[in-house]
Amino acid sequence: MSSLRFKAVEEAFKKKALCVSAPEKYTSDYYGKYVFNSVAMAKYLSKDTLKALKNVINQGATLDVTLANHIAAGMKLWATDLGATHYTHWFQPLTDGTAEKHDSFIDYVGAPGEEIIEDFSGKLLVQQEPDASSFPNGGIRSTFEARGYTAWDPSSPAFVVDDTLVIPTIFFSYTGESLDLKAPLKKALAAVNDAAVAVCQLFDPNVKKVSAFLGWEQEYFLVDEGLYATRPDLMLTGRTLLGHESAKNQQLEDHYFGAVPSRVAAYMKDLEFEAYKYGIPLKTRHNEVAPNQFELAPIYGEANLAVDQNLLVMSIMRKVARRHGFRVLLHEKPFAGVNGSGKHNNWSLGTDTGVVLYAPGKTAEENLQFITFITTTLMAVHKHNALLKASIMTAQNAHRLGANEAPPAIISAFLGSQLTAVLDKIENSTSEEAILIDDKKKLKLDIPHIPEVFLDNTDRNRTSPFAFTGNRFEFRAVGSSANCSSAMTVLNTAVADQLLDFKAQVDAKMAAGSTKEKAIFDVIKSYIKASKAIRFDGNGYSDEWKAEAAKRGLDCETSAPEIVKAYTTKSSIELFTKLGVLTEKELESRNEVKWETYVKWIQIEARVLGDLTLNHIIPVATRYQSLLLDNVSKIKASFPADKAESLSKLNSQLIIEISERVAVIKNAVDDMVDTRRKVNKLEHEYDKAVAYHDKVLPYFDVIRYNVDKLELIVDDEMWSLPKYRELLFIR
Ligand code: ADP
Ligand code: MG
Repeated sequence: MSSLRFKAVEEAFKKKALCVSAPEKYTSDYYGKYVFNSVAMAKYLSKDTLKALKNVINQGATLDVTLANHIAAGMKLWATDLGATHYTHWFQPLTDGTAEKHDSFIDYVGAPGEEIIEDFSGKLLVQQEPDASSFPNGGIRSTFEARGYTAWDPSSPAFVVDDTLVIPTIFFSYTGESLDLKAPLKKALAAVNDAAVAVCQLFDPNVKKVSAFLGWEQEYFLVDEGLYATRPDLMLTGRTLLGHESAKNQQLEDHYFGAVPSRVAAYMKDLEFEAYKYGIPLKTRHNEVAPNQFELAPIYGEANLAVDQNLLVMSIMRKVARRHGFRVLLHEKPFAGVNGSGKHNNWSLGTDTGVVLYAPGKTAEENLQFITFITTTLMAVHKHNALLKASIMTAQNAHRLGANEAPPAIISAFLGSQLTAVLDKIENSTSEEAILIDDKKKLKLDIPHIPEVFLDNTDRNRTSPFAFTGNRFEFRAVGSSANCSSAMTVLNTAVADQLLDFKAQVDAKMAAGSTKEKAIFDVIKSYIKASKAIRFDGNGYSDEWKAEAAKRGLDCETSAPEIVKAYTTKSSIELFTKLGVLTEKELESRNEVKWETYVKWIQIEARVLGDLTLNHIIPVATRYQSLLLDNVSKIKASFPADKAESLSKLNSQLIIEISERVAVIKNAVDDMVDTRRKVNKLEHEYDKAVAYHDKVLPYFDVIRYNVDKLELIVDDEMWSLPKYRELLFIR
């Protein structure tokens, strides 16, 4: 009897929803309480300090030591009032997680051993040198220059978690290369600001700043903690490497938007209370398509801050889940046969005059600007579709995109019928007739204020990886466990570059005597023509689309290690270096890290798979087989030979099937181990990653297929791993 599994199931059924209540009646009464936001700043900083800091945040003014000291003093006092005794720089190394190292505020006043004070200087706030030699760097830091530094990002407010003041920072090497995901994002956001402001000023000279906005939607699974503890694969890899589909999963679509189960509802509430304390504006919560799959989303905000908030939410999600006896799975594909989890990145650009540049406007001028940004983005996505795919590709997300049952790994853009009609109209006409210049000599584009995509939900193509949804694009290929920075860095850089191209072309045409409107119209028209291949409104999951996309010349590569190479093609290196976002050296070292990380993931999974088959599956299957053999011999002993033959036929068949499958599994595991030994000797990370993808990964399918078949025939009471029905339906 598999006591552990049944004990876990029994315990899970006994668990009741926790009682949770809001810290205050009104959310606004405690919202952002643990964030050093403008309210806290006003209370803890002097007027001059506050003014100078705002200058740093909004205008990018430099921060001198005196100012840093004043800010640090106020920040420390604020944090101490909230119970903080420690501080940490918080950074985002190339591992997709976050890193922190806590130091206490204490220091000697004078000589060592004398009295102690709590101190926090400007120097400690602004820059630190964590012992960071073992963070991945892809060869940037050889040992003699292994030092890494963190530097404060004043545009993302500090916050207090438990007893620690947490300061968001960038992370870079002694030689100045960035070693994190935040620094390139900030550079990309600066680039898109510069480029977009120049374009906006063609339409409105008052525009001085353009921000990129991000609204992420975080999908996740919840699994009962006891059940989780009996699945080594979930514990160590975040996904189930084995497990037959349960008879019922998401076919009936009865989970999606269904009533939230009570234990989960309590979790969601608790999570929201925590998030509100950190000023994270969670707005939406609901059941997702797969059983035990859920989603939360905040109101969108400035991209750099939104990324930090997402990272913080992921850590809060993990913590709160433990309180409720759950484990949260952020892996992109925890279960075969049901939907995986993504993190849709809703993205747009907006001006300091309050215009969302991807929302259709009220006037002809605004609509021309709207179409300018739409077509520029389409051009950027078309030109860099392989790079955008690389920005979201990891070993984990590869199971969600490009694998057997998942959407293909092809980037295309969905516009909806209405916007498509507008673009078609522009494409097929000369500027004179097309845009019906009215008596005020203004351009007239027929774009109603409420796009039909909002009215007709079926027009919201959910299979598109990059979809226009009324006032933004939704980059849906981003993985649920990812740091959104990678995707946001590439998208904003690519769009920035295209906006620069747009402005240069319009300027040239105007210099040659064209009117501004005609110049803009002509460039838009050429973009519509040139970017056509990226537009696809059909079913992105179909096989026909794979064939069609290949014909159109879109990147159709499915192997993650190959996809990553898009970062170091000539056009990508040009793009990143021209805009000052990443150097060639940084791009190359980042790819090294990606290949290394890829190899490690598959390596770990392969080990876990080997352990599971040898320690769980084969022992259970052979034990059951012995029972069957026992039964057959007893039948043979009790009945005449001809009768015994027919009576034991079924069991004999099962005995044979178990032997055969166990042999296939054992051989595959042995071969997999041999293959790993061989490919581990390869020198270059790229070669190793390719070999892990091409040679090691295929064993997973053979092993899993046979294990899952065994699961169907072996006595349920003996099976030691919780089954899909238990993992997916107990809550
Ligand atoms: P759905 O599931 O229908 O796509 P959600 O409400 O779950 O929508 O999530 C939409 C996300 O998009 C939210 O975070 C929302 O704030 C964000 N969003 C809305 N408008 C914009 C915009 N102009 N730019 C960026 N994000 C936006
Ligand atoms: Mg969405």
